[in-house]
Order: sequence, then C-alpha cells, then structure tokens
Amino acid sequence: MKPLGPIPAGFEAIDGVLVVAGRPVTHWVEEVGDTPLFLYSAERIRARIAQLRAAMPARLALHYAVKANPFGPVLSLMHGLVDGFDIASGGELRELLACGVAGGEISFAGPGKRDRELEAAIVHGVTLNLESEGEATRALALGQKLGLRPRLAVRVNPDFDLKGSGMKMGGGAKPFGIDAERVPALVRRLLDADADWRGFHIFAGSQALDASAIAETQGQTLDLAARLAQEVGKAPPHCNLGGGLGIPYFGPDTPVDLEAVGGALAQRFERLPEILQDTRFCMELGRYLVGEAGVYLTRVLDRKTSHGETFLVTDGGLHHQLAASGNFGTVVRRNYPVAIATRLGAPVEEEVSIVGCLCTPLDKLAEKAGFPRADVGDLVAVFCAGAYGASASPASFLGQGPALERLV
Ligand SMILES: *Cc1c(COP(=O)(O)O)cnc(C)c1O
Repeated sequence: MKPLGPIPAGFEAIDGVLVVAGRPVTHWVEEVGDTPLFLYSAERIRARIAQLRAAMPARLALHYAVKANPFGPVLSLMHGLVDGFDIASGGELRELLACGVAGGEISFAGPGKRDRELEAAIVHGVTLNLESEGEATRALALGQKLGLRPRLAVRVNPDFDLKGSGMKMGGGAKPFGIDAERVPALVRRLLDADADWRGFHIFAGSQALDASAIAETQGQTLDLAARLAQEVGKAPPHCNLGGGLGIPYFGPDTPVDLEAVGGALAQRFERLPEILQDTRFCMELGRYLVGEAGVYLTRVLDRKTSHGETFLVTDGGLHHQLAASGNFGTVVRRNYPVAIATRLGAPVEEEVSIVGCLCTPLDKLAEKAGFPRADVGDLVAVFCAGAYGASASPASFLGQGPALERLV
C-alpha cells in the first residue's frame, strides 16, 4: 500500500461525514447542487492569517499571491485580511479591481508583461516588479506617453536559492528578475528618469517546510537588499522578501515551524543595517494562506476491478486537480491527502486506486492506498485543494468543464 498525505489539522466528521464550515459536506453538495465541488473555508483562511500575524514581527506586512486562488469571493475575503496583493497578469489585475482593491495595494510581477498590461498597471498606480532592463525601458516610455510617474520596483534574481523548496525561483540563470550585480545600475537609471522607485522584490523559492532553511534565506535576502541599497546609495522604500512557506502534501511532510521563522526574522529586524531602517517589508504568500482551507469533493461513479486491483472511478479528476494527480511540477507521483468524505474515520478495509473520469492513465487522485470500503455515490475528498487547484488545472480537457466553487 502507498501512503496518503497528511490531512490538515482541524477537520472533523459528524456521523462519519467530513465537516467544512460547521456542516457536513453532503449538505454543501446538496445546496450547491452538483459535484465536483471546491469548498473553501473562510474560517480556516482567517485562522491561518491570524496565526501568521501572531508569529511574525509586526513590522512585516502580508501580501496575498493571487495566482494561488483567484476565485472572486476568496479575493474579496482577502481584501479585508491582508495588506496587499501580488499579481502575475492583467487578468488578475482586473479581478482585483472588480473586488474594489485599490491599485496602490497591488504589485505586479511576471516575466512577460504586454504593453497593455504595463499600461493598465501604471494607470491604476500598481507597483511593477520589473523583470528585465527591457521591461524597464518599456515601462518608462509608457509612463511618459501617459504623463504618469510609474511606480517601479526591481525584481532581483538572487545569487542563492531557498534550500529544500519545491520550486526554486532564484540562483543561476532564470527568466525571473534581474541578476543581482546588474540591479544597482538599473535602479540608478530609474532614479535618473524620475520614476517612483519602490524598492526591491526578492523571491528565492516556494513550498519549503524547513524553518531553518526559510530563516536562512530571509537573512540572505536582507543582506542582499542592504548590499544593493548601499551600491545604489539610496534606501529602498519597500522590500518584498518573497514567500517560501509551504504546506505538507505528502506522507512524511510536517508543517512549518512558524514561531521559529518569526523569531529569526524578528531578530534580524532588530539589527537591520542603517540603510534599511525605514524600509517597509512584506512577505508574499499564496498556498500557505489558502491551500489547507480548500477541499475538492468528487463523487464515486463506478467501482470496478482489473487484474486484482480495485478502482473507484469519480466524476472529477486531473482537469481540476492537476497537482494531486502528480502532473504539476512533480517528478515522482505521490498521494495527496485523500479520504472517503462520507466514511471519514472508518477503519481501512482495502487497497484501492481512486481515478478521475478522463480517458488517460495520468488521471489518478490516489494510487494503491488504504481506504474504508466505498461504493457508488460516496464522496471523495482531496485536501490541500485551496491553492493551485481549479485555476491551475486544464478544465476544458476532454470537454469536462470547470468544477463548482464555493467559499463557505
Ligand atoms: C507563485 C508566487 C508566489 C506564491 O507562491 P506560493 O508557493 O503559493 O506561496 C509568490 N510570489 C511570486 C513572485 C510567485 O511567483
């Protein structure tokens, strides 16, 4: 039998049925009317942010990386909970503006920004995290054309990466950011052009669980920001320290020791170099804020055996859950936390594979794992579904269409 990932703490059952936001999931499926269904718990998002704020130094602002979950109601909820938003496209900008978020609360990173996206950002006072000298030239020209002073920060490609991170975003040749040694010259060019220089954006990696590795990277990030500021000869108004906090998806993973990360950062803040004394710092987080708040529910349509292996076939699949199927940036497929939502807590009775409804062998939600006996009509829950689920999966594949989503 293959192990399943750890179900996030705090989920309970009533009469064997998984509970989300105080109600059994069967209630939500009935109310919404169909499966597959993503449920996002507002309460869990609020609790996670409160926990983070309590552990981190008060000086650290908290930004939400929209790409983790751009569902409108989630963005509206976040509007009252975080200090800013990070976007990666003009589409995400439109979503945020529609939720009433002011451009001044938004920063925009991403290696390929179209002129019309740069223009929309400048018009709305969004901070552009510049990814290249060429992009800087285009942003300055657009600012002049519009008669507006663009707000420009420089995304630095750091000369280190976040150890143990699932996704390395710095160190070596990268399409993201500007190599550290070329940053001071670019900042001076921005200042000479009278742009509103906002500071640095330094993002070294994502999905890390080791507190000491995260703390070490944050230390290196502060050192780098200080060094660059010295070379520029001007204090950066703002410095985005990146993110990095991951969530446990697989068997042996354990949660980040938040107190250790916050404690180390507080110590670093206490002995900041002079040039960073007045700088405002933020962290940008996606999955850490919303990942464990989401559950994906799909119904068992068929139960069958083949060469001695039992399969539960569901009405969902990789078109909503690319990451859980093992096809979104993983080398070896491992099982996410998955459970029979209508038999939660019942003893394991059999080894089964839970698959989706697509005609491809890639469409696996759980492979050869132990579950209580489930049948046609039972609901399957995939946990850790609040980030990089619905919007990061090919919903149109095989004509299936998107899942339902609900913030509860
Ligand atoms: C994707 C991304 C994030 C969010 O990453 P998570 O792992 O979801 O926290 C933050 N910043 C940048 C620049 C990103 O590209």
